[in-house]
Amino acid sequence: MTTDDPFAPMRRAAEHAAAFERGLDARSPWPAHSPDAAVRAFDGPLPEHGADAAEVIDDLAARAQGGLSGTRGPRFFGWVIGGSHPAGVAAEWLASTWGQNAGASVAAPAACAAEQVAARWLLELLGLPTEASVGFVTGASVANLACLLAARDAVLRAAGWDVADDGLAGAPPVRVAIGDDAHTTVFAALRFAGFGMRRLLRVATDGAGRMDAGALQDALAAGTGPAIVVAQAGQINTGAFDPFEAIVPVARRHGAWLHVDGAFGLWARACPARAALAAGVDGADSWATDGHKWLQTPYDCGFAIVRDVDAHRRAMNKTASYLPRISDAVREPTDFVPELSRRARGFAVWATIRALGRDGMAALVERHCRLAQRLATRVAAEPGVTLANDVVLNQAILRFGADRPGADADALTAATIDAVREGGVCLLGGARWRGAWVMRVSVSGWRTDEAAIDASADAIVAAWRAVRSRA
Ligand SMILES: *Cc1c(COP(=O)(O)O)cnc(C)c1O
Repeated sequence: MTTDDPFAPMRRAAEHAAAFERGLDARSPWPAHSPDAAVRAFDGPLPEHGADAAEVIDDLAARAQGGLSGTRGPRFFGWVIGGSHPAGVAAEWLASTWGQNAGASVAAPAACAAEQVAARWLLELLGLPTEASVGFVTGASVANLACLLAARDAVLRAAGWDVADDGLAGAPPVRVAIGDDAHTTVFAALRFAGFGMRRLLRVATDGAGRMDAGALQDALAAGTGPAIVVAQAGQINTGAFDPFEAIVPVARRHGAWLHVDGAFGLWARACPARAALAAGVDGADSWATDGHKWLQTPYDCGFAIVRDVDAHRRAMNKTASYLPRISDAVREPTDFVPELSRRARGFAVWATIRALGRDGMAALVERHCRLAQRLATRVAAEPGVTLANDVVLNQAILRFGADRPGADADALTAATIDAVREGGVCLLGGARWRGAWVMRVSVSGWRTDEAAIDASADAIVAAWRAVRSRA
C-alpha cells in the first residue's frame, strides 16, 4: 500500500509509539527476542529498490517489536536507565523534524538558545557554579572524556606545557589519582586521553566504595607536578558518594584539578532531602552527568560541565573561516563538545526540565530513593537474603543464601536472578561487588511506583524461594 499523504510516515510512527507506550505497564520488561533472534527479525539482502516510507515504518516497528526491552516501563531495574519523559520524547521528535544541527548558532539559533537556557537551569538544579560551561554530549562517558581533556590541558598549561601545540610526547607527567571503585567509563576516558592504566594512583575506598581522603592526601603528597583527581558522586553498585568536603581541600592543597563523575548521583543535589550526600561537590573543577538517567531525557544525552570556561573551550577548540562566529558574547555549542555537527539535544532537555520543574525533579529523586529502600527492605526480610549496601540513594544490592555455611551464595544469587528473569515481572541483573556476586537494583524510571516495587519485591522473593527449595 502506498499513500500520497506526505506525513504518513510520521503518523504511522506516532501510532506505533502510542501503542508501545500503552502496552508498557503490562509487558514484560525483558525483550522477547535474544540478540540472535533480533538480528533474524531485521536481516535481509541490501534492498535493490526503494520502498514507501510509511510502509518502511510499519515494517520497522513489526521487526523491532520482539527485541524491545521495557526500559521505559515501571519494573525495569537493570541498570541506571531513565524512563524517557514524554515531554522529552516528543521534543526529540520535533528536533528530528526540524533537523537542526546544533553545531553553530548562526545555523540553528533556536537549538542553541534552548541549550543555553537549559544549561543555566541545569547548573541551578544541581547547585553548581553559575559561571561553568556546559557541553551537551551523548552521555556521561563522553562527558567524562571532555572534562578530562580540559583537565589534562589545563594542568599541563599551568606547568608551562601547551598540549594543543606540543602534544603529549615529552610533556611533564601528570599524576592522576582515582578511587578504586570508579566507573569503567572513567578509566576508558583516561585511556582515550593518553593516561596509562598502570600509572594511575589508585586510591583506596571503604566498604561502600567511597574514596579515602587520607589515602588521597598520601598519594598526592608522595610526588610533585601537575595532578588530576577523579572523584565520584554515586557508585554504580552502592550509590555511595565520595566525601567531597574532605577531598576538595586535599585537591586544592596539591594544585590538582578535581573532576567528578556524577552520572546519576549528582542529581541528589536536585533533591533538598538528599543533597547533603553530595555536600561540597560544587568545589570541584569539572563534573560529568547524564540527562538520560535521572533527568529522564530520551537517549542520548549527557553534560560535560567545566568551571573554567576558557579551559573547556581551549580543549574542544575548532575554528574555520567557513564556520562563522557571531561574536564572543554568543555561546557556540561546539566550543564545549568534541563534535561539530550533532543532534539538537537542548530541545529535549529544555522540555524535560520544563515539564518536571524543580519540585517535580526533587520529588522524583526522593521517590526513587524511597522505593529502592522499600524494595530492599521487603526482599531482605525474607530468610536467607542479605542487603549488601546502605541504601542511601536509588541503588540496592542483595545476596541470596549467604546465611548458610557451605552454600554457594554466588551460584544461588545468580540462580535467583535467572529465576526472576524467567518470571518476567521485573528486570534486574547482577554484578561482582567486594568479591561476591550480587543482585543489582537500580530505581531510575519515572513510571516506577509503589505498586511496581511491591510486585517486583514479591517476584524476587518468589524466585528466591523457588531456588532455595531446589538447592
Ligand atoms: C552510566 C554511568 C556512566 C556512563 O554514562 P553513559 O551515559 O553510559 O555514557 C559513568 N559513570 C557512572 C557512575 C554511571 O552510572
